[in-house]
Amino acid sequence: MEILRGISVAPGVAIGEAVVLEAEDYRIPYRTVPAEEVANELSRLASAFEKSIDELDKQAVWLNAHLGHDAANVFEWHIGVLKDERLRGSIEAMVREELAAAAYSASTVMRKYQQRFLQMSDPLLVERIRDVQDIERRLLRNILGEAREDLAHLSKPVILVAHDLSPTQTAQLAETKVAGIALDAGAATSHTAILLRSLGRPGVIGLKDVSSRVSGGDLVIIDGSNQLIIANPNEATLDEYRQREMAFVRLADELDELKGLPATTLDGHRVYLCSNIEFPREARVGIAKGSDGIGLYRTEFLFLRPEGAPTEEEQYKAYVEAIRGADGRPVTIRTFDLGADKYTQQRSYEQERNPMLGLRSIRYSLQNLDMFKVQLRAILRAASHGQVRMMFPLINSLMEFRQAKMTVHDTIEDLEETGVQVRKDIPIGMMLETPAAAIQVKEFCREVSFISIGTNDLIQYLLAVDRGNERVSQFYSPSHPAVLHVLRDVVQACTQSRVDCSICGEMAGQPLYTLFLLGLGLQTFSMAPANIPEVKKLIRLVTMAQATRVAKRALSFETDRQVTNYLRDETRKVLPEDPI
Ligand code: PEP
Ligand code: MG
Repeated sequence: MEILRGISVAPGVAIGEAVVLEAEDYRIPYRTVPAEEVANELSRLASAFEKSIDELDKQAVWLNAHLGHDAANVFEWHIGVLKDERLRGSIEAMVREELAAAAYSASTVMRKYQQRFLQMSDPLLVERIRDVQDIERRLLRNILGEAREDLAHLSKPVILVAHDLSPTQTAQLAETKVAGIALDAGAATSHTAILLRSLGRPGVIGLKDVSSRVSGGDLVIIDGSNQLIIANPNEATLDEYRQREMAFVRLADELDELKGLPATTLDGHRVYLCSNIEFPREARVGIAKGSDGIGLYRTEFLFLRPEGAPTEEEQYKAYVEAIRGADGRPVTIRTFDLGADKYTQQRSYEQERNPMLGLRSIRYSLQNLDMFKVQLRAILRAASHGQVRMMFPLINSLMEFRQAKMTVHDTIEDLEETGVQVRKDIPIGMMLETPAAAIQVKEFCREVSFISIGTNDLIQYLLAVDRGNERVSQFYSPSHPAVLHVLRDVVQACTQSRVDCSICGEMAGQPLYTLFLLGLGLQTFSMAPANIPEVKKLIRLVTMAQATRVAKRALSFETDRQVTNYLRDETRKVLPEDPI
């Protein structure tokens, strides 16, 4: 039995035999054709182009309808490349003038095309190389007419294991029997991760070498909730996970019935469960799962597109779509959290040595004021469409918060000067994500409209553990007593200052911590929409007195293991049937 830890893309359990996808790499030998064959080669080429564009069109339409425009965008870009006359002209010229075979010409020209991207100074364009490789593979497949590893014809559910998946391969999974996914590669913000998350099947990425450790036919368990996979499990583990898998299915049915009910404790204490979203159309998905609003809109995902930075108008439209999707419920828009693992580090010529401690989040926005102001204009304009709040990520000092807030006021003035009326009283809050902010929470309370605790970052900075580094993931624990104590102090300070305090890190959506967080006095939790039903169920089965007792006791332990065991026992008392 082997346990590998990675980054989860969707919660849940999947069990099945592994299908290991080999890297689909076509090596095309140099081949010439007799002059009389040229017309034939050109017509093969023409039909391969036609077929590729047709496949992509269908995929884009499907994605647009099911996952929204952001997901479809990638394929629209692929279509654009295939419709580029110059590119196609160069391939045809090679066939015509050098009598090279169509496949060889296509491969040679596409590789030169990749080189052009490699030399570009805009790293967002450099990222397109994988897309160009994807286009090349599709084109070659259609020229050569080869039968590929066909996931569409699987007869039973399997676990897909691969080094990496291209956006195309990922999109194709939607209509297959792939029950879970395990990848060597992957960062939380890659295109592939975004598409996998939208599919909602349990998956763990960033496993480094899973594709060489697991062989086709091995039994594999994907535990998306705990960010791990287990290969060749022993009987006891397999039994446990089979039960968890069934419990998940039962739970999903049962939880569906809760969506119209409020998250109210047995003694009538109302709790608000909001969603974290990356794409505007997810706002609606969250509401369908019974969410009370959008607690965190990660706007930096607007950068996930080939064209680079989104314009003011594009941003405005995205924000309005999210606000409309929330259907009158509150929406908290977080300004760009760029940097660290999200995009900007690749932009600089010299990469940051320590990007998590580098130019990220609000620091990045304040050093790129033009970009920041464009975003603020878009948010302020969109805010008139609903109950909107604005918050800044990674605020670490009062000066930073004041500077960001002042920039908002400057932007309001600029807008008013041009005749655009905006809500001057838009609530402006901060994410509390660093130990420094936690220590100064009382001072912040005097200046902010609200605080949202970002435990993902708070834990990494408090425990000095990179949240994205697999080598230290065993040290990244929300149960660490230091984390619990800091959370208690922050919530207490906010309560005393009567400042609205919510929590939006992953911890907020983990049922293991629900009793503890509730017991601290938190009333608003924001999480991935998929987690809302289970947390709601738990809240509806306890009283505040119970939760307060659990929180107090949890705070008395000295090690994270004791905390985890205790919280698991207490949660199981309330939800004996559910997988935790
Ligand atoms: C957090 O840090 O807890 C958070 C919610 O923000 P992100 O995960 O986007 O850094
Ligand atoms: Mg954060």
